[in-house]
Amino acid sequence: MRPRTRTVLTLLNGTTGTGLLLAFLTGARIRRGRDGLLIAEGYRLRMPPASCFTVGSVILTRRTADWLLAEERAALLAHESRHASQYAVLGPLFWPAYWFACGWSYSLTRSFGVRNFFERHAGLRDGGYPEELPLRPWVTRLKRR
Ligand SMILES: [Zn+2]
Repeated sequence: MRPRTRTVLTLLNGTTGTGLLLAFLTGARIRRGRDGLLIAEGYRLRMPPASCFTVGSVILTRRTADWLLAEERAALLAHESRHASQYAVLGPLFWPAYWFACGWSYSLTRSFGVRNFFERHAGLRDGGYPEELPLRPWVTRLKRR
């Protein structure tokens, strides 16, 4: 998806506004990223436990924007950028769909990411997830039947 299209869509569907509101409410500072992405640095809440997460075109991080924009973090930034594109397509439907995918993945593997469609699409390795995990015993039993 073209960055400009993504910026416009996430603005129109309200998800970037939600990300900015969340940044404002948690005292994070907004910095300009790349490709129309905004980075909210200094996010303070403990949830979610990831080093950064995306809401619309806003990437919220406990670290600084410079940390996320550093060359070593290019893969992580690309991962979060793909989440922003998912928000552009789904709008607020992203949330229920994402939480459903988390539940699905967790019930199969005890990981919220490994079997989560959105995380797989954004790139498991880039997002710091293991690329595969053994299925839970009940799933394996079910598959054998
Ligand atoms: Zn992710």
